[in-house]
Amino acid sequence: MYDFLESAGDPDDHGWQDSANCLGVDPDLFFPERGASTREAKEVCRGCVVRGECLEFALQNGEKFGIWGGLSERERRRIRRQRAQAARSVVGA
Ligand code: SF4
Repeated sequence: MYDFLESAGDPDDHGWQDSANCLGVDPDLFFPERGASTREAKEVCRGCVVRGECLEFALQNGEKFGIWGGLSERERRRIRRQRAQAARSVVGA
């Protein structure tokens, strides 16, 4: 799945991909059409040992599309919002 990331920067920074459960899995599964099921992709992610790294990569790079770290775009947006709120409350404390 992650072949396309080679152009996203230094590939050495993405060593976790070598352990990705989705290696060799059809990328279309992780980038479903709007409204299509994400269940199969999330099943692959469920057993992935680098799920945390994958999710952080997506969060830090603002990945807007696809399933990363077992989470959909909407689920990642929620985490970003929660982190932003937490950061604001620390600053405001
Ligand atoms: S969490 Fe999912 S998308 Fe991320 S590397 Fe693992 S299997 Fe692939």
